Amino acid sequence: MDFDLTPEEEAFRAEVVAFLDENLPVKSMADWTRKVRDKRWVGFSWPREVGGGGGSLMQQAILKAEMAKRRAPALGTCFMGLAWVGPALIEYGTDAQKQRFIPDILDSKLQWCTGYSEPDVGSDLAALQCRGERDGDHYVVNGQKIWTSLAPIAQWMILLVRTAPIDRGNKHAGITCLLVDMKSPGLEVRPIENMAGGYLFAEVFFNNVRVPVEQRLGAEGEGWSVTVSALANERSSISEVEALMRRLDELEELARSQRKHGRPVLEDAAVRRRIAHFATVIEGMRLNGLRLLTKQLKGEPLTSETSINKLHRAALEVEMADFALTLQGPAGVYVKGAEPAVASGKWQQGALGWPDTVIGGGTPNIQKNIIAERILGLPKD
Ligand SMILES: Cc1cc2nc3c(=O)[nH]c(=O)nc-3n(C[C@H](O)[C@H](O)[C@H](O)COP(=O)(O)OP(=O)(O)OC[C@H]3O[C@@H](n4cnc5c(N)ncnc54)[C@H](O)[C@@H]3O)c2cc1C
Repeated sequence: MDFDLTPEEEAFRAEVVAFLDENLPVKSMADWTRKVRDKRWVGFSWPREVGGGGGSLMQQAILKAEMAKRRAPALGTCFMGLAWVGPALIEYGTDAQKQRFIPDILDSKLQWCTGYSEPDVGSDLAALQCRGERDGDHYVVNGQKIWTSLAPIAQWMILLVRTAPIDRGNKHAGITCLLVDMKSPGLEVRPIENMAGGYLFAEVFFNNVRVPVEQRLGAEGEGWSVTVSALANERSSISEVEALMRRLDELEELARSQRKHGRPVLEDAAVRRRIAHFATVIEGMRLNGLRLLTKQLKGEPLTSETSINKLHRAALEVEMADFALTLQGPAGVYVKGAEPAVASGKWQQGALGWPDTVIGGGTPNIQKNIIAERILGLPKD
């Protein structure tokens, strides 16, 4: 890993710092979103011909690092579009698909959701049952998805269907990836309430939903490759340390504002030790992120190593939220429907929202299996 920047990279870093000096704290989110889009920092490493910034991976890393240091807001609000649908479109999409979908992702005009999991299919995703049958120039989709985050507000879904029966010798074959308009006739979204009282994920039912063949991403029966690349990007985006750094600042702030015997609890050695532990794990994740970057700079694809940070992030989110509630004492108790006493209920929401980072994108057990088998080379279970 080479930590030195070339003169060009240093010049880019100076440009980023100057922009952040001028624009932080943000005046309004609309103003920030427009300015970073004008600078082509949204989709910064995507090719210029699709509207991206054409930046190198190294420049993108510099941009992210400087933004994280200054706790800048995210670049764009089309979360799944930017994190994995866009990259999958760039890798597997036709020119028409790129022109149709990428500008709206970059302009934060729409939300995507991800239709992979089914009632009996999660970790063992290749066993999926939702069917897509070819009928002329359409696929007719029948089946059900579940736990589909953002489905109640998304305009489009990246969907996996089975277009050929399961081949026990190769269960990854026969899966096809489709891009589905959420307003398609026969598609029904039934929101599920989560523990924190939110309704951002849902069951999605498909009853003879017709999807034009030109909305297939990649070749028929080869959707698994699209998924492997999208899942690696999903795990990598879930594991980015920027959000955790912001969360750590907030935790420190909480420890400064809470008092014990008239003194801020941040002065308590046990509290400081715990915060130092969180900071150390985050720094380890940052360094692992740089390791992944080095791999990408050598032209190697992101694969199993993204599971390392996904695993750490899941544990850390839960530990940090639990610790915050301990610091809040009785004020941290969550009563549904009641006005939260401290920090607008942010930490209660975090403590109840743990399945999002722990289970979403693949459970810790699955990440451990991936690390054991594909990184450490241990024999299969
Ligand atoms: C908040 C949230 C958001 C989500 N968002 C989405 C989304 O947007 N789109 C989507 O498609 N899905 C989404 N999911 C679904 C998520 O991907 C699945 O829940 C997850 O992959 C686990 O699958 P499952 O629920 O079927 O559990 P199972 O696969 O049945 O697992 C049950 C338990 O068995 C363990 N287990 C299973 N297989 C193995 C194995 N081989 N070795 C060791 N242990 C194993 C698991 O670790 C787990 O503890 C979301 C889930 C949550 C909680």
